[in-house]
Amino acid sequence: MSDKAIFLDRDDTLIADPGYINHPDQVKLLDGVAESLAEFSQMGYKLIVVSNQSGVARAILTEETLSEIHSRLKQLLLEKNVKLDKIYYCPYHPDGVIDKYRKESDLRKPNPGMLLEAADEMDVKLSESWMIGNSSRDIQAGSRAGCKTILINQRLNQRQTKPEKIKPDYKAVNMKEAVNIIKMQNRSGTNTNIQNKPFIIKPHQQPQPLQKPKEKAQLNPSPKEPVTQNVSEHKIEKVLHNILEQLKSMQRDNIFGEFSTMRLIAGIVQILALASLFAGIWFLMSPDKDNNNILISLAFALVLQVMAMTFYTMQNKK
Ligand SMILES: [Mg+2]
Repeated sequence: MSDKAIFLDRDDTLIADPGYINHPDQVKLLDGVAESLAEFSQMGYKLIVVSNQSGVARAILTEETLSEIHSRLKQLLLEKNVKLDKIYYCPYHPDGVIDKYRKESDLRKPNPGMLLEAADEMDVKLSESWMIGNSSRDIQAGSRAGCKTILINQRLNQRQTKPEKIKPDYKAVNMKEAVNIIKMQNRSGTNTNIQNKPFIIKPHQQPQPLQKPKEKAQLNPSPKEPVTQNVSEHKIEKVLHNILEQLKSMQRDNIFGEFSTMRLIAGIVQILALASLFAGIWFLMSPDKDNNNILISLAFALVLQVMAMTFYTMQNKK
């Protein structure tokens, strides 16, 4: 019987990425990773790392050094009773400076080569497996291989590489939330029908426009006013949705992140931001709508949100 696997990106998914890692001493596990991988193992998944390592082609490190780095990674995890089943890497890159490694490769993510090779060698059923990574390349590789995918956001301010190319099945603030998502999926017992599971936050779920008061049409006497008002309302709705999305992300970060005083402060400020946001929504929905009140509330919500994000960022850099 085939096994199922969690395919894992390496840099900024399992370990911190300070740029190109070219020494074993630079290997630092990210918070919560070992515990999460242990849970995946207990759930019956093989743990397989699939990593682009164009640094080899660029002569930043040798395959021997890379092997030492991966030995260090395995050792750090073993110290926490987690055993990686295998690490696949792609040393090739079309712009490499070493002839041997200068080429396009099916192994290089976003191509699915490493996952397909692993599936073949290790008898893994891809449709029951997951790809977890922090970039759109990981998501594309996982999706092309036929796996379900989770995009990890290790940092709130992290920019993803062209995330619009392929949407992940789910987004998670960290590996702990990824564990939660997969547990939920397995508990539901319908891995193939992930779109029908309302209790998991879906990444590309578009927020619905806010309901506007029905009497709005009668309150627009002049022909120019409705256009201006509609544009203004559209902008306000857009801001509201953006704030809500950020709040959702930070709320999930609160649930699945490590506790710290800075996180607690960020959480309190976030609640205040939420209160301001709801005040803005209340003003927006009230019959005698006052744009000044709406804007003041939203301005407060934005300022508080920025403060909360600052605290979160400080906490992440602790
Ligand atoms: Mg990465």
